[in-house]
Amino acid sequence: MNPALRVDEAKQAILRRLVPIAETGQVALRDALGRILAEDVVSPIDVPQHDNSAMDGYALRAADIAGNEETSLRVAGSALAGRPYGGTLDTGECILITTGAVLPAGCDCVVPQELVAAASDEAIRLAPRIVQAGANCRRAGEDLRAGSIALAAGKVLRPADIGLLASLGIAGVAVKRRLRVAFFSTGDELRSLGQPLDPGCVYDSNRYTLQAMLSRLGVEAIDLGVVRDDPAALRATLERACSEADAIVTSGGVSVGAADYTRAIMAQMGEVGFWKIAMRPGRPMAFGRIEAGGKSAWLFGLPGNPVAVMVSFYLLARDALLLLAGASDTALPLLRLPARGTLRKKPGRTEFQRGVLAPDEQGKMRVRAFDEQGSGILRSMSQANCIIVLEHERGDVADGEDVAVILFDGLI
Ligand code: AMP
Ligand code: MG
Repeated sequence: MNPALRVDEAKQAILRRLVPIAETGQVALRDALGRILAEDVVSPIDVPQHDNSAMDGYALRAADIAGNEETSLRVAGSALAGRPYGGTLDTGECILITTGAVLPAGCDCVVPQELVAAASDEAIRLAPRIVQAGANCRRAGEDLRAGSIALAAGKVLRPADIGLLASLGIAGVAVKRRLRVAFFSTGDELRSLGQPLDPGCVYDSNRYTLQAMLSRLGVEAIDLGVVRDDPAALRATLERACSEADAIVTSGGVSVGAADYTRAIMAQMGEVGFWKIAMRPGRPMAFGRIEAGGKSAWLFGLPGNPVAVMVSFYLLARDALLLLAGASDTALPLLRLPARGTLRKKPGRTEFQRGVLAPDEQGKMRVRAFDEQGSGILRSMSQANCIIVLEHERGDVADGEDVAVILFDGLI
């Protein structure tokens, strides 16, 4: 018997082998959300284009208010957003200016409206040295210089990126084509929705979970249905998956006993490792590359238990699929937060416990683990808002001890 693989070893073994898909296409900015940039985007312009005001107020020369007396300055004109002041400022003058308006020639600072001692249409009075040179000015190219990289290849485009591209006047970008991922469930006990639930059977929930998880990743998910525990059916479905997809995600049929014929077929079709991973939930997993009809695909054979399939998907398959899709910044942020109550944990395996992150009575965020951590209990996965990661070597966790947490939801 081979010893169980550590989670980090399994993950590295997967990531090491993968090569991102090469095909790219052009999409309009409106269709670019969630897509992966295929090339660096170089800024064609300085952002901002001109020195401009960060406040509503008056633009002037700092030297004019550098004395020890209150100063009166003549309002020589106005600079509004989109309507620059044409002239050059003289000593003793100021310009009424709004946020974003181009800083008139000769000005080197902006005094915000609320710091002006007195103002009329003709003149303002200012306390000595109320601001320094450079105050409340934004400099041309301060956000981004023309010719510099605005967004790097491999970026998964989020709302701010879409806005940034628009701010550069860019209407379309080169993106990777969507990764195609075929998925199916295996098991004689599975019944599809709408079918009667015969004795000893369960509804095929994993296919719906997989579809949902794949959609959230932004890949094209191809549903290949339920496959009976039958070698010919499995082979036919894997052949079809190879012809249609870059990667295949399956649920069930990889645990010891269940795996015998799966293993034989996958071995005939390519190079697939059947792993025992030191993790809970989600111990068995198959990974490799299979080929049929001159086409090949990466295979992620996930366990059948409904929670195990989710945990293995997120902790082992997610980053791999994103990497295949061409994304470069894939790692999920790990927070460190104190546990609420004790957590039972066996050293020698990584445990991914379902948790709830919530403020305690003092308003401090703490994470509590569900009592029921069975790998079939999907309800607790649904009630959880985070996964608590308990590292390989770690034992029981005491109340208040820090643990690593992966949140289910982020802001964007
Ligand atoms: P397996 O890995 O095929 O031995 O399955 C392990 C457990 O997960 C069994 O109790 C199965 O009934 C359950 N299971 C497998 N596939 C699914 C599925 N698609 N939907 C819900 N439960 C499943
Ligand atoms: Mg099965």
